Amino acid sequence: MEKIGIFGGTYNPPHVGHLNIVSKFVAEYELDRVLIIPTFVPPHKVTPDLVPAKDRMEMCRRTFSDPIFEVSDIEIERQGKSYTYDTLIELKGLYKKAQFYFLCGDDMLLSLHTWHKPKGILDYCTIVSTVRSDDLRLEDLEAYAKEYFPAEFLEGKIQFMPIEPLELSSTEIRVKRKNGESVEGLVTPATLEYIESGGLYL
Ligand code: ATP
Repeated sequence: MEKIGIFGGTYNPPHVGHLNIVSKFVAEYELDRVLIIPTFVPPHKVTPDLVPAKDRMEMCRRTFSDPIFEVSDIEIERQGKSYTYDTLIELKGLYKKAQFYFLCGDDMLLSLHTWHKPKGILDYCTIVSTVRSDDLRLEDLEAYAKEYFPAEFLEGKIQFMPIEPLELSSTEIRVKRKNGESVEGLVTPATLEYIESGGLYL
């Protein structure tokens, strides 16, 4: 059975922290492919530093350039609120025989109980989470899962991936650009070229 990873985000912009965790994810779970899914951001949420979807898609293609990655416009095309549950249903229809693994950082996992239909999500995929910095430990994530989703945790539907965290966020990159600082090394060279030549985040 095909094992498909899913890694969604705003990707404003995608950075080496994303690449770090998704690379570990591919190796650890022996995935056949990983769908990189930039989220649609509804117009009323648009902030001045959000770049258009087409730019986020292109930066994702440049960042996740290995053929194992597929940048998907499924949420951008659907528009409306990007519910993970709806995305999973759509993906199930497209890849009928696949097994899905959904990757997320600690900030995402710790809000899982507030997502739309979290138990439905766990029926359709295994969530794989990891820490973004040394402030949290995998044990903290495990304690959260045990408290909010005890049955699903016991079934192994929420898993934890040890990693050497790369403490970095898209926000930090946008702030650096605004301040006229270089973001070299924080994004891949091809993405850096796109950001600089397009004058993004200035
Ligand atoms: P922003 O600063 O704009 O909120 P972000 O850096 O958190 O952006 P997102 O596109 O929102 O990036 O993140 C997509 C996914 O990647 C989320 O699951 C998030 O937890 C995870 N993630 C982001 N940065 C890291 C990192 N440095 N290490 C591990 N996971 C990360």
